[in-house]
Amino acid sequence: MTQQGLVLGVLEGDDIGHEVVPAAVLVASAAAERHGLRIEWRPMPVGRRALDTHGATLPAGTLETLAKMDGFVLGPIGHREYPKVPGAINPHPIMRKHFNLFANVRPTRSYPGIGCLYDDIDLVIVRENNEGFQPDRNVVAGSGEFRPSEDMTISVRVISRKGSERVARVALALARSRRKLLTVVHKNTVFKLGCGMFVEECLRAAKDFPDVAVNEVIVDTMAMRLVRDPQSFDVVVTTNMFGDILTDEAAGLVGGLGMAPGLCIGEGDFAMAQATHGSAPDIAGQGIANPYAMVDSTRMMLDWLGRRKGIAAAVAAAARMERGLTAALADAKARTGDIKGSGTTATFTRAVIGNL
Ligand code: ATP
Repeated sequence: MTQQGLVLGVLEGDDIGHEVVPAAVLVASAAAERHGLRIEWRPMPVGRRALDTHGATLPAGTLETLAKMDGFVLGPIGHREYPKVPGAINPHPIMRKHFNLFANVRPTRSYPGIGCLYDDIDLVIVRENNEGFQPDRNVVAGSGEFRPSEDMTISVRVISRKGSERVARVALALARSRRKLLTVVHKNTVFKLGCGMFVEECLRAAKDFPDVAVNEVIVDTMAMRLVRDPQSFDVVVTTNMFGDILTDEAAGLVGGLGMAPGLCIGEGDFAMAQATHGSAPDIAGQGIANPYAMVDSTRMMLDWLGRRKGIAAAVAAAARMERGLTAALADAKARTGDIKGSGTTATFTRAVIGNL
């Protein structure tokens, strides 16, 4: 990597990943070219195809190779369809954990004409990514879910001071760069210790951000308020599973999962672009998947890496991608069917590039 270049892994994932990830690479490459930003894309096998060719959905050496890069694009993973064989694992929790990508930044924004429930939503949910209730990543060995007897299952939820504080700091810094409002979502009325600790750490971290106003909302109230007055939120921070559910709800407000991008980040200068949606096997191979979420996730990664590493061309390329995306969304013939268009993955991708 030089000052003016980035080395990025490309892991298509499964099903529509083979359609939306190439779209993201095409758009980002075209935007980068306009700003003299060199991006070296390094394709790597992952998921079902990697199982067939390398005997594992996460082939040996993948994490070590990725660690030498600046970040990577990860397409959706269809792990529910994997055969029950050794080597067929869900790779993304391992990646989030390995690279300590503890913050999952998921924006929700309205665009005209695409079926949004309101025309003025602009919020970002920052979801803690590596602990909470998710049993595949909340312990270093074994699983956070176990079955002591045939008729009983225990799921352990992990909340740590450090895990809570660091995700709060990501959210606070983001709020500082936006409308300076942070909403902490929790359920400390019931989870007095777990959510209690999360809130305590968020409020403690907020003392270093006196310019950011902080309020709290109980998660069930939040589920209702997201539907009724989503405009009242700027940045939201919450624990892993609450965030998982609320981000899908938020996507539903603005046209669905095809409109839900995401970026996974940690404390280092390394990022993983990963859309919120799954691999959508029901529409795979038809050329109709909406590439917006994956393209915008990649845009977020360029912007974030550019700012962290001081690469102005990456920030400029990301801004250009945003303009292209906004213009393409306004074109009903180009955009895909899930967002009230008559186009395809290819027509949308071409429209974004044409409008860069
Ligand atoms: P996971 O649990 O792996 O996140 P999921 O259960 O949320 O997966 P998805 O694979 O995301 O399921 O698909 C849910 C629905 O949304 C499907 O009907 C799918 O076709 C649709 N969908 C998801 N992503 C897109 C997209 N990019 N473009 C169009 N439709 C999509």
